[in-house]
Amino acid sequence: MASSQSSTETDWVSRFADDVIAESERRAPGKPVVVASGLSPSGPIHLGNLREVMTPHLVADEIRRRGYTVRHLISWDDYDRYRKVPNGVEGVDDSWQEHIGKPLTSVPAPAGSAYPNWAEHFKAAMVQALEELGVEYDPISQTEQYTAGTYREQVLHAMKHRADIDAVLDRYRTKKDGAAGGKKPQQQKKVDEAELEAAEGSGAADEDDGSSNTAGYFPYKPYCGNCEKDLTVVTSYDDDTTELNYTCSACGFAETVRLNEFNRGKLVWKVDWPMRWAYEGVIFEPSGVDHSSPGSSFVVGGQIVREVFDGVQPIGPMYAFVGISGMAKMSSSKGGVPTPADALKIMEAPLLRWLYARRKPNQSFKIAFDQEIQRLYDEWDSLVRKVADGTVLPADAAAYARAVGTAAGELPGTPRPLPYRTLASVADITAGAEDQTLRILSELDPSSPLTSLDEARPRLDRAENWITTQVPAESRTIVRDEPDKELLGSLDEQGRESLRLLLEGLDSHWSLDGLTTLVYGVPKVMEGLEPDAKPTPELKVAQRSFFALLYRLLVGRDTGPRLPTLLLAVGADRVRTLLGA
Ligand SMILES: [Zn+2]
Repeated sequence: MASSQSSTETDWVSRFADDVIAESERRAPGKPVVVASGLSPSGPIHLGNLREVMTPHLVADEIRRRGYTVRHLISWDDYDRYRKVPNGVEGVDDSWQEHIGKPLTSVPAPAGSAYPNWAEHFKAAMVQALEELGVEYDPISQTEQYTAGTYREQVLHAMKHRADIDAVLDRYRTKKDGAAGGKKPQQQKKVDEAELEAAEGSGAADEDDGSSNTAGYFPYKPYCGNCEKDLTVVTSYDDDTTELNYTCSACGFAETVRLNEFNRGKLVWKVDWPMRWAYEGVIFEPSGVDHSSPGSSFVVGGQIVREVFDGVQPIGPMYAFVGISGMAKMSSSKGGVPTPADALKIMEAPLLRWLYARRKPNQSFKIAFDQEIQRLYDEWDSLVRKVADGTVLPADAAAYARAVGTAAGELPGTPRPLPYRTLASVADITAGAEDQTLRILSELDPSSPLTSLDEARPRLDRAENWITTQVPAESRTIVRDEPDKELLGSLDEQGRESLRLLLEGLDSHWSLDGLTTLVYGVPKVMEGLEPDAKPTPELKVAQRSFFALLYRLLVGRDTGPRLPTLLLAVGADRVRTLLGA
């Protein structure tokens, strides 16, 4: 293991890495550093939940880069109860209601799924996205852990100390009620729907702390031996024999089991989580802002891990919600909430990593599915140029390095990263026709033409997917088949002259740069200005009306993709036809 090295203090990831290494050396010298995430495959795992993984991933990756061994545990909370049937999931109907209360691994997968159960089905998409994102981790299935009796000692220990646990919970129950009393009910209700949705996707959002009945408080719940649901009530427990009696309020089944050999149940969430911190020796585990309130599972867990499990609460920053801008209604097949896989269809993994790396966990941000993605890519390309020419700021350089690769190496990139907005425009106009796309992309820079579309991939594929899945039909560009004779016939002398100048210059300006000069230059010539003249307000008006004329003649609307790209995409012959040559 590398010797402890002082941080370069360049960004939030480095600072957390410093703290986590120091804490790990103090608590478990010479042992691998353990960081953790928890995900509940209770339905499609939303893009918002990716921060639960990316925050510890980036810190773990920094620690690996410093030469330490790190375990990033991703705990699949697949032994959690099935809480509700999510809306709009393909292959699922109301009949899934009957499984509510069962462990997620005991619920059938949606119809047509290749996976054996509900949890495995929704895990699979996330596993694939994490692979593409370069996230290295140790998966832990809580179903496997519990049903194998892995936590036997911890379960028995928690049952033995149930009064202590109840006392801790009680402190917060009182505080929580007191705090809530000061709030207006209306304020409490005013929670963003999307945030609730996001919280639903995380097992950590379940604030279940078990409940007391006449027999006392029990931090453990069996799943029913008859109907598999967790609607069970523990009616007695004997510490010496570990004999436990329960009845099921769903089906009426009752049985006596011995907890020292019984494996079909789990600790309630508020006890389960701190138990695992202690069991795994977790040094770093962030959680969503919904955990910051008094009485939340993170706060209560801190007391329980210390007082009951003789452990230490991990360093656990709260992370802010990640929003989505402009996800078209098109993904309603997934309940309208995008998944990491949806994001990776329209953007490359390094760009998505960058969004998380450049913002501190407590800063919220949005992931763009709308037009904003083009500006985001421009910003990314500008960062790449600054990195190349050495003008990049240290914090930006750090975020860049975390985005393009991990301690294991570089992530796949695009050899010729042409501007995303150009690729999107080309995809828009060609509707994905490969020969046409290659012709246009080769003409962008004739001095160094593209020889194969593969050079522009995978960015080209992402831009094509964005156009086809996120841009609404009414915003798509449709190049006219026939010239607009009526409009052409109505042009005055000046209008005809401007088109003539453009057509005359087409051949000698047939590249992205050349056509840019040409389309801005024609109005200058018309105004009697030099081609390199500085724009005046009058000139800007003239340029705008000239551009609007070209859009009308080429695509039948007042706006469209950038004109140089559009002209290249339409092709010189068709441009001549449509402009009345
Ligand atoms: Zn039952």
